[in-house]
Amino acid sequence: MKMSNKEAVRKLLGLLKDYKKVIVLVIVCLLISTGLNMCIPLLSKGIMDDGFIGGDKELLIKQVVCSLIIYIIIAMIDVVKEKKRVDIAANIQYCLSEQSFKHLMRIKTDYFSNKNYAEILNNINMDIGNMTSIADDGVFFVVTQAFSMMGGIIGLFILDYRMTLMVLFFIPVKAVIMKCFAKKRKRIMDEFIAESEKYAGWFGNTVGGVREVKLFGILENKKNEFADRQLSVINRQKKLNMLTQWNNITDNVMVHLLTSFIYIVGANLVFDMQLSVGSVFAFITYSTYVTGPISAILNIGYLLSGIIPSTKRYYEFMALEEENGNEENGIKPCFGKLELQNVSFAYEKDKMVLRNVNVAFAKGSKTALIGRNGSGKSTLIGLLLQLYQPTNGSITLSGTDISEMVLKDYRNLVSVVSQDVYMFNTSIRNNICMYKEIDDKIVMEVCENSGLSDFISEVSLDYVVGQNGAMLSGGQKQRVAIARAIVNHPKILLADEPTGALDSHSGEQVMELFQSLNDEGVSILMITHDAEIASMAQRTVEIRDGMMKSKEVAET
Ligand code: ADP
Ligand code: MG
Repeated sequence: MKMSNKEAVRKLLGLLKDYKKVIVLVIVCLLISTGLNMCIPLLSKGIMDDGFIGGDKELLIKQVVCSLIIYIIIAMIDVVKEKKRVDIAANIQYCLSEQSFKHLMRIKTDYFSNKNYAEILNNINMDIGNMTSIADDGVFFVVTQAFSMMGGIIGLFILDYRMTLMVLFFIPVKAVIMKCFAKKRKRIMDEFIAESEKYAGWFGNTVGGVREVKLFGILENKKNEFADRQLSVINRQKKLNMLTQWNNITDNVMVHLLTSFIYIVGANLVFDMQLSVGSVFAFITYSTYVTGPISAILNIGYLLSGIIPSTKRYYEFMALEEENGNEENGIKPCFGKLELQNVSFAYEKDKMVLRNVNVAFAKGSKTALIGRNGSGKSTLIGLLLQLYQPTNGSITLSGTDISEMVLKDYRNLVSVVSQDVYMFNTSIRNNICMYKEIDDKIVMEVCENSGLSDFISEVSLDYVVGQNGAMLSGGQKQRVAIARAIVNHPKILLADEPTGALDSHSGEQVMELFQSLNDEGVSILMITHDAEIASMAQRTVEIRDGMMKSKEVAET
């Protein structure tokens, strides 16, 4: 889904919607300080004409003190305004981060097939950072600028209408130039965002493989890739910075050009006795009240041109489909027969992994699932866990389609020991209990059953497992995974090669555990390559060519 520029601007302004009252306060502060600022040139004119030239010392001092007081008041108002504005920016940043984090956690799992964490973090942070600049000083400033411009123009007309027309001619010229800059900036920003995303993706991918980089001696290749990718980001950054500089330089030159004209025309008027010297200086100050706002208002286009690409990407990300949790009107799952009817599934269009699979797992049954590498066994488990939805057909539990059930409750009922289980970098206890309050006695019992107790007695339940369990052996990790799966008393246990990383003794222990769970009535579906383990199940089903072959095995 592509978003239009208009829609993006609408969304951006929508971010400010919740802060109407505070924004009004900020703008009122800005208006007061702008209004006060307006008095300064008139005071300066008095200081110059009546004070210096007219020789009235007392008046001069009064006017100087008066300007000083005005400046102090302006400064105090600015502090109040800035505090409020910074609060708005921080709130927007927090809300966007929170929204995107929640969404990220609910998004369908296939999103993560092609994205690593570095890339995701980079995109989210960059987009939110850019979008938050909608609450930048410049944006609110602009609203008051129109007011300031009016005041400035009135001031100018009072002083001299001929020179005012000269100032007004400045507006369209400036607008055209700014538009060119904004257009160019948007284009470079688009490229910059895309290149940064590529770089972050590459970075995450490379750091994840740092061991392989060392072991296979590919540091040189990675260095070259780094240079390519990083330079293409930095070059865009350089262009953006230079463009902003050019924008400012052009702005300054134009203002100075205008001032120079005013000096020359003003001088002629002074020499002809049509204008006082103080008036010319007041005129120049007022003219900055007009040119400044024009720059600021037109600069908004320039500012937005940098934010819009991020806004679009952010909302495109937010529009990605989430898992349907059926929280409100889902059906409560009821343990019973688990059945696949005509289930087909493809990760990518036209590349069928499973084709018309029909198979049922009775309540309390124990089934071994076999098949060659890549035949679709893990995919089947993914479908049963509702990580993916069947392309065709349906999966039912006790006759109800599982996609209509409250997902949370369904996943409470169905537990999994995955092939590649993820460990959070926290204690073994937390990795087993997964935020549920469970008595240590029960946790120890579960550890006993899953063969972890020897290791626990060496360390403790508080042992921190490291990044994705890096401080555990493969077998220990697998046992934590088993403990995690059974601690909640699931009714259906799915296991993807649960003994793959275990020695034969431990493997037997796990099989005994599964048998005792099965004796208690738990349905078990277990992927295995071990013929002996498969033979212990009541039934073996095989996936071949994406289809299901089933053979009953005599009770052992
Ligand atoms: P296995 O039977 O070895 O567990 P899988 O179910 O993991 O096999 O994979 C079945 C097929 O699906 C393989 O051909 C694999 O390449 C493909 N596949 C697995 N996961 C994905 C994915 N996330 N995206 C696209 N294709 C995938
Ligand atoms: Mg597999």
